[in-house]
Order: sequence, then structure tokens, then C-alpha cells
Amino acid sequence: MLILLADAFQADLPKRLEAFGEVTADVGRVGEAEIVIVRSKTKVGKDMIDAAPRLKFVIRGGVGVDTIDVPYAESKGILVVNTPEASSVAVAELAFALMLAMPARVVEADVSMKQGKWIKKDLERTELLGKTLGLVGIGRIARELAVRAKAFGMRVVAYDKYVDKSDSAEMTSLDRVFAQADYISLHTPLTDETRGMINTAAIATMKKGVRIVNTCRGQVIVEADVAAALKDGRLAGYAADVYDKEPPEGSPLLTAPNAILTPHIGASTAENLVRLGDCIVDRVKAYATKK
Ligand code: NAD
Repeated sequence: MLILLADAFQADLPKRLEAFGEVTADVGRVGEAEIVIVRSKTKVGKDMIDAAPRLKFVIRGGVGVDTIDVPYAESKGILVVNTPEASSVAVAELAFALMLAMPARVVEADVSMKQGKWIKKDLERTELLGKTLGLVGIGRIARELAVRAKAFGMRVVAYDKYVDKSDSAEMTSLDRVFAQADYISLHTPLTDETRGMINTAAIATMKKGVRIVNTCRGQVIVEADVAAALKDGRLAGYAADVYDKEPPEGSPLLTAPNAILTPHIGASTAENLVRLGDCIVDRVKAYATKK
């Protein structure tokens, strides 16, 4: 059996997978592959599936399967799984770092220092203590973020279309999350329901001066609307790890004020790469054993 590792993983993963079959990183051999393993970079769409007549199993190392045409894969009898348990802490720590960096003015302070400026008087900070964090989606990552926000003395409210009760947050409606939150952090998958959820109309119902953190998916927000709200001050900050298009060439966010941007590194901790590797080996082993 040929196992295609289409994206970059921990260096020892090919060797660990060799116990189950031949391992290649050559995407040109997709036609021979029985298992394809991807992160978010390689899109497993119709074209790739049609080019892979022997494909039986797709493993997404990570959470979001919006990069895979799951209905089409399933119609061809291909099983698609992800590794949602691996990345929660890594993404929650980045979301927390982004949330803290905005009122702490870390990025402006650093950039100004390196420009030879000493703008101590201009860099007024605010604190997270006593502020309300509104979570949209109360899944694995949001629950990890809630623990960290509470440790900093924040009140945590949340809306989840599919979850009514949670020990991690006071569950409420989306309208109330928008109306009460000083910080909003987005943690839903990208679906037809969540695409474009944060737009001009939604921002108009939020507190003036709210700050938004987006580590889920770029298309959950409308970038032009968020950039306009940053310019007119409705939003005091927007911190993102994910974009409509990646890399976000030409995005209005690149020139918007008070935006902190990271290049989709939410899952990229050394510890998470080890966990991802372990999860992938478990998935391949279970598949090989069942054969
Ligand atoms: P999860 O499945 O544990 O949680 C998602 C939550 O969203 C669920 O509780 C679900 O009920 C809720 N939800 C679904 N549709 C909703 C809607 N319309 N409105 C409100 N809530 C809704 O997933 P997770 O592990 O917490 O990951 C969340 C997302 O984070 C992933 O789908 C992925 O897109 C993104 N992610 C990003 C990175 C990164 O590198 N930045 C890494 C991992 C995951």
C-alpha cells in the first residue's frame, strides 16, 4: 500500500509509517496512493480524488475538513478522518496571545522601538481583567481559551448553535454575545452557516470598540467589512491567524489599522506536531489492522 504524505509533518513521521506500507511525499504518485495524509495546504478536491483511483483513506492532520471535498470523497467510498484532539491547546494559546497582544500594545511597542522611537506616553494600555470574552462556538479550542481567559479574571459568555450547556462559559444567544463582549473570539468550523457571519451588519450590533480574534477560518468574516470597521473605529482591534485567501495577498486587512496578523500558525507548535504524528500513526494503524 502506498501512503502519500502530501504536506509537511514531523521529520520522523515517514519512518514511523513505513511499518504499514511504502511512504512517499511525491504528489505526482497520487494515482497509486491508498492513503493520503494532508494538513491545510493540500486541497483534496474533485480533481485530486479523480486522479487517485486507488484512494481509500484521507487523513487530515488537524481539525478543519473544509479543505477536503468530503461528500465527493464519500461518494467514491473514501473514508475521511481528522485529528481534532491534537491541536486545541496550540490554537487556544495563539488565540490568547493575540487577545492579550492587542490591549497590551505589544506589536506597536516593538515596531516603534525598532524604528528608534520611544513612544511611552502614546502607548496607553488596557487590561483583560474584568472584561467580557464572547466565544462563538464552544468546541475544543474555545474551551481551552475559556480556561485561560478565566485565569485572567475575564467573564466568559458563549454562543454555539449546537450546544446549549457548558461548564466553560455562560451560554447565551449570538445577539447577546455580540452586545456584551469586549473581546469576541471565533471558534466555529467554516460551513454555509458560518461563512460571512462577521460582516458590517453583525459588527453594528457589537459594542463600539470591541476587539475580535479569529483563529478559525478567514471566510467566517468579511475582510472588507472588518477592515472598514477598523478604519472607522467601530472595531478597536482585529487579530487573525486565518484569511479568505492564504497567503492574503491584496487583502484590505494588510493595510487596516489595529490589525495583528499571523500566517496560519495556530497548530504549528513543536508539541502539536508530535501529537499530530501520534494521532496519524494511530489512524493508519487502525486502518491497516482492519484491512
Ligand atoms: P470543534 O468541532 O471542537 O468545535 C467547533 C464548535 O463550533 C462546535 O461546538 C460546534 O457546535 C460549533 N458550531 C458549528 N456551527 C456553528 C454555528 N453555525 N454557530 C455557532 N457555533 C457553531 O472544533 P475546534 O477543535 O474547537 O476547532 C474550531 C475551528 O478552528 C476548526 O473548525 C478549524 O476551522 C479552526 N482551526 C484553526 C487552526 C489554526 O491553525 N488556526 C487549527 C485548528 C483548528
